[in-house]
Amino acid sequence: MSMDELNFQIYSCRKCRLWQGAHHGVPGEGPPNAKIMLVGQNPGAEEDEVGRPFMGKAGKYLTKTLLDIRIKREEVFITNIVKHMTPNNRKPFEDEIDACLPYLTAQISFVKPEKIVLMGKVACKAPRVEGIRYFEVIHPQAASRFPDMGKKFQEQIREL
Ligand code: URA
Repeated sequence: MSMDELNFQIYSCRKCRLWQGAHHGVPGEGPPNAKIMLVGQNPGAEEDEVGRPFMGKAGKYLTKTLLDIRIKREEVFITNIVKHMTPNNRKPFEDEIDACLPYLTAQISFVKPEKIVLMGKVACKAPRVEGIRYFEVIHPQAASRFPDMGKKFQEQIREL
C-alpha cells in the first residue's frame, strides 16, 4: 500500500462512530522521510474544516515553538492518534483509539522517523517501535493556555 492509498483509507474510514460528525478524516502531513514525527490527540473543528492537522491556536503555538529551535513545520510529519474530530473536542474513547491505531502504525512504518514526539496523555497510547526514540511532552493546547506549561513545553521541545 502507498501513502496515498493509506490517506484515502483514512478519508473514507468508518471503523468507529466519529466519521458521522466530521467533514474530513485528517491523516496528517509532512515529508514521507521526515526524521521527526509529532503525534497529537485528534483534529479539532478547524482541522476538520480543512482536512489538515494543527491549524488552530495550538498549531500556531506548536509551529512557533518548533521555529524557535530552527525546525520548520514543513520538515516534520504531523499527525494525530485519532484521525477524525470528536464531538465538542472530547477525549477520544478507547474503542475509537483502538480502531484508529493501525493508521498511525502504518504511518510510522512508512516514514520510519528517528524520533516521535507524543503530545499529551492520549498520544502516549501510540505503539512503541524498536529503534525509535520517543519523547512525551505536554499538549500544545495546554502549553498555549498556561504560561508555566508553555515554559515546560518549550524546554521539552528543545530536548529534541
Ligand atoms: N489538537 C490536536 O491534538 N490535534 C490537532 O490536529 C489539533 C489540535
